[in-house]
Amino acid sequence: MMTHREACDLFASEDLIGIGMAADSLRRKLHPEDVVTYIIDRNINYTNFCTEYCSFCAFYRPMGHKEGYVLSFETILGKIQETVDLGGTGVLMQGGLHSELKIEWYEDMLRACKRRFPNVHLHCFSAPEVTNIAEVSGLTLHDTIARLRDAGLDSIPGGGAEILDDAVRHRISRLKCSTGEWVDVHRTAHQLGMRTTATMMFGVDETIEQRVNHLECVRRLQEETGGFTAFIPWSFQRENTSLGRFVKSEATAVEYLKTLAISRLYLENILNVQSSWVTQGLKTCQLGLRFGGNDVGSIMIEENVVSAAGARNHASEEELRRIIRDAGFLPKQRDTLYRTYFLN
Ligand code: SF4
Repeated sequence: MMTHREACDLFASEDLIGIGMAADSLRRKLHPEDVVTYIIDRNINYTNFCTEYCSFCAFYRPMGHKEGYVLSFETILGKIQETVDLGGTGVLMQGGLHSELKIEWYEDMLRACKRRFPNVHLHCFSAPEVTNIAEVSGLTLHDTIARLRDAGLDSIPGGGAEILDDAVRHRISRLKCSTGEWVDVHRTAHQLGMRTTATMMFGVDETIEQRVNHLECVRRLQEETGGFTAFIPWSFQRENTSLGRFVKSEATAVEYLKTLAISRLYLENILNVQSSWVTQGLKTCQLGLRFGGNDVGSIMIEENVVSAAGARNHASEEELRRIIRDAGFLPKQRDTLYRTYFLN
């Protein structure tokens, strides 16, 4: 396995093509059938009220703000119906950290979704939201996750990880959960039999060592539990955010591809690595398929958080299939757990 030092050396290297080829070769070993996957799903941002004031976030509104909202269950169910009508198999539900919504609200919402759409996969509530639900409700993490699971939660997204290094977190999201808390949520979910994903938002003036600390943290937990289905790195989008004024510049395509490839190499024990078109655009996403990526993520019927921060890329299913084919791979629709039993 690659060491922390070796990963830092690769980041310092100019040999982008060599790093990409090494990542591509590992990708081929892990996915010899030359398939690249994508999912049709929808992000539902059930509330934008939030108490955390993260400096990279253009989405949240403080409690009581006139532009704040909490979606009604009927609106959420309507959005799921539209997803199903478009061939979607799941929803990714995330929101701000609301200081008054207790676990009963989340349980009622999950039950309402499962009652009407028993086959739709509910991939919901990133680690800071889960921690917040536990705190607001006076429950342990274990009981919170177990109750959400029993109400219909199928898996947990990796959001809120940003960079898993407390010095960076203190600078960009001081109030949000610590590295240890993020890990605890994912470990507890894995122990309860749930799968989760891991993400990384880089390009916030972290050092290379701190970026590799993140990879190390994810790799260690995967060694312990095996519960991660995928790793999804993406770069900070600075428009409309207070952090954007201070970060020197957004990550370039070269930096993105290098980070993607090194992530693939470092996280040998995570099967899937995603190349992102939402933050990088279709062309860089396509290149990413030769830099270790074996998945292009979601058609994304709706996404408010990244688009609030200036990412304005759009793609139809046919476009995603085309960029996958043109890169030399076979496109296949998958579900949230990366299963590709669909007939296409
Ligand atoms: S990133 Fe999440 S936790 Fe931070 S302010 Fe935005 S909605 Fe709140």
